[in-house]
Amino acid sequence: MTVCIISHPDCHLHVMPEIAGDEHPENSARIDAISNQLVSSGLDYVLMYRDGPQVTREQLERVHDSDYLDALAAKAPLDGFVEIGEDAFLSPQTLIAASRAAGSVVLGVDIVMQRLTKAVFANVRPPGHHAERKRAMGFCFYNNIAVGAAYALAEYALQRVAIVDFDVHHGNGTEDVFIDDPRVLFCSSFQDRLFPQTEITSHRTNFVATPLPAVTKGAQFRQAITDQWLPALADFNPQLIFISAGFDAHLLDDMSQVSLTEVDYQWVSEQLRSYMDSSDDCLGIVSALEGGYESGALARSAVAHIKALGKL
Ligand SMILES: [Zn+2]
Repeated sequence: MTVCIISHPDCHLHVMPEIAGDEHPENSARIDAISNQLVSSGLDYVLMYRDGPQVTREQLERVHDSDYLDALAAKAPLDGFVEIGEDAFLSPQTLIAASRAAGSVVLGVDIVMQRLTKAVFANVRPPGHHAERKRAMGFCFYNNIAVGAAYALAEYALQRVAIVDFDVHHGNGTEDVFIDDPRVLFCSSFQDRLFPQTEITSHRTNFVATPLPAVTKGAQFRQAITDQWLPALADFNPQLIFISAGFDAHLLDDMSQVSLTEVDYQWVSEQLRSYMDSSDDCLGIVSALEGGYESGALARSAVAHIKALGKL
């Protein structure tokens, strides 16, 4: 089955300030590394490519406060950087990139709902899962995956969507947006006590928190997913699955101590694809890039993820 890859050149326009003279790890070479790996994988001929549109104000306001959106626009600098949250800096064209990133997830929903294919990967930045209703943080401004999920609920009148997040950092923004919405199941795995150090106090039925000890390797990760996520998905019976696909739990990625490899990302993606295939109600999977900062590991992991989603 073909996988639709959605991106846009504007996603290169956002820059973050250097750290100690080095380029910031969340940089535009990340999406290029994935694109290049896709070309060298020989998969190009079975993939469908689309340019992501800009997100609309209406689409953003389903998950972000109007005042927050106004403040972002007002504070965007003409040059240099403006810090607007912990590890979140606006550069002159940040919001153009962020608009394409969120718009790409929205288009992904349309692609699936129009039955063009059942698997989409948005190769976009800046990432989104730390962005809360009214707070930018952790390299995130608009919560891309939340914008897409809210769009699916509103525009297509879906009753149940699941968001699974295997980025090594907790998706606090996604939790903030949907914690009181019973139409959304949110499953989030993350290294315990890593940024954003969210204290998980919620035990609601629509939120599955899967903290991982720093020593976690593939086998323990797979066991946790098998024990916690797959039964939750089966119980919830989502009509659409969204994936916050961060690859920073990789062994070679120094953002964390968790030691997954591309084989583990392939495995979890295969589980989600198998779930979709076995479900009468699940229409497709819309995945979007979150973290992942070691170029080679990121590229190999993302392509393993894409191949597994399409059974390529
Ligand atoms: Zn992360």
